[in-house]
Amino acid sequence: MKVFLCAINNVLSGTCNEDCAFCTQSVKFHADIQRYTYKSIEQIVSEAKLAKEMGALGYCLVTAGKGLDDKKTEFIAKSAVAIKKEVDGLHLIGCNGTASLEQLKYLKSHGIDSYNHNLETSSSYYNKICSTHTWHERYQTCLNVKSVDLSLCSGGIFGMGESTQDRDELINAIVLLEPDSIPINFFHPNDALPIKSTNITLSEGVEIIARIRKMAGDQKMLMAAGGRELLFGGHEHKMFEAGINSIVIGDYLTTKGEDPNCDRKMIENLGYEIAIIC
Ligand code: SF4
Repeated sequence: MKVFLCAINNVLSGTCNEDCAFCTQSVKFHADIQRYTYKSIEQIVSEAKLAKEMGALGYCLVTAGKGLDDKKTEFIAKSAVAIKKEVDGLHLIGCNGTASLEQLKYLKSHGIDSYNHNLETSSSYYNKICSTHTWHERYQTCLNVKSVDLSLCSGGIFGMGESTQDRDELINAIVLLEPDSIPINFFHPNDALPIKSTNITLSEGVEIIARIRKMAGDQKMLMAAGGRELLFGGHEHKMFEAGINSIVIGDYLTTKGEDPNCDRKMIENLGYEIAIIC
């Protein structure tokens, strides 16, 4: 099996006025994280080069905040053009919140290949984790991504206190959207956040991955994303055996990730190949 590596660049961090209870980037929770306005495009390009050297095929440009506005759309478009000019072979993913058809078309015409927007949790549980926007706005953005023929990357977070019914509901909703790539996140507790602990176990994580793989089919990219180290550290073989074929390398949005070289070694030690083309 080939494992696809994806890296994340948080190009605008920690300045969001929404209140998603799992997110340290909300200004409402005062989490101790780095907060900054836009990175320079030169810095983004040089970080993209480093990610490519580490074997990343997917490169995700993330901005904190509810969704795209004109300034953000222009910035992501400019960043995409600059990266495509200087780094070969990176599949670029925008992750910039809710987005209209026009904004998505603009990003696509400037080199963005995919758009990531996660459903996060079930529609029924969503009002327990966010009061400032609705699940349906999230779903609509995913539909918009498909309408403009961008590749859709959409998944969710498990372990935020949701019930097994909520998990079923979330999985069904994700599979129904038929995303090309499905990031599976496992809640990473932080003292500043309203959700204080995770309610997912290793065996539940394995079962969720296996179920999504079975329902979504073999062609989809199934990615172990945030919280992977916390839940699967030392047991990575279980997530690959259950159906994961992609991981995030390097740091996450506001939490440290594993050293990419250690992840590459781990994959090779388990007998898998690292994909070199997307
Ligand atoms: S909208 Fe995005 S950045 Fe803002 S709090 Fe929610 S998840 Fe975090």
